[in-house]
Amino acid sequence: MSAPRDLLQATTTCAYCPTLCLHACPVSTAEASSTVSPHGKMMTARALASGALPLTDRHAVGVLSRCTSCGACQVACRHAIDVSGTLHAARTWAATGGHAAVDPISVAVPIEAETARVLPPGASGVWLHDAGHAAAFAVVAKRNATRWGRRPELVFASVEDLIAVETLYPTVGATLRVPQRLEVDEALPPLPATGQVAYLEPCALSRRRPEHAAELRRRLAAVLGDRLVVLSRPDGEPLCCGAGGGYAEASPAGAKRAGARILELARDRGAAAVITTCGGCRAHLAAASPRAE
Ligand code: SF4
Ligand code: SF4
Repeated sequence: MSAPRDLLQATTTCAYCPTLCLHACPVSTAEASSTVSPHGKMMTARALASGALPLTDRHAVGVLSRCTSCGACQVACRHAIDVSGTLHAARTWAATGGHAAVDPISVAVPIEAETARVLPPGASGVWLHDAGHAAAFAVVAKRNATRWGRRPELVFASVEDLIAVETLYPTVGATLRVPQRLEVDEALPPLPATGQVAYLEPCALSRRRPEHAAELRRRLAAVLGDRLVVLSRPDGEPLCCGAGGGYAEASPAGAKRAGARILELARDRGAAAVITTCGGCRAHLAAASPRAE
């Protein structure tokens, strides 16, 4: 099966770059490995696309999946290279050829009860899309469009699902015209009564819906005042907890380490609690907590 023609072109700039985005990637930090740095993953995609590595190389195809789609490398890159989009294209190519790193059966797509008010994290099937399973994602999207089209509104726990329904569903003929919002638009997550509270702003929301993110931050600041500790990288960019982009399915241990780093940072900043405005991040951080073991 030949590679998409633009995969080689999309990886060319990275081939000549001294990997200036290394520091930005939550995956290479969590795994302490340059193999899974943005540069490492792009070079793996390039080797597969050029035929230097075969698609049957399970390790190489697995490297493509170690990405949360956070977009931090694109911000750090002077050339604004779309690493996550390129890696997604490479995963889709591999999966379509029967060489997916993540088995579609292992990707959770929760189906909520008809009476459930809030759609649970992953309900849109976005993790199937992220793993490169385009055909399975389209089936889930069309099924959901039929079921959800009868609802007066769609309330999502996870920002990833909201963005998937807004931007990906129309591309597979599953457009939903029902009003859509996040659970936190109605009520903020439970807030502790005392002490410093660390806020992890979901990186997907921060980068793809900055005005929405700013509004939620304003509401938190109004309630918490100087008890609010916004977690971010030293350059002010948002942090990624490891939950997104199918990384948690591809590498549960790595994703858990990324989540544990957020909890450590919150502790270092003197916070007794961590909150986030994404149900997917919330579930991931809870699972990454030592108390979950
Ligand atoms: S994404 Fe940009 S900074 Fe990172 S390796 Fe590619 S060209 Fe270099
Ligand atoms: S999108 Fe995020 S996780 Fe993926 S390579 Fe870039 S920085 Fe790393």
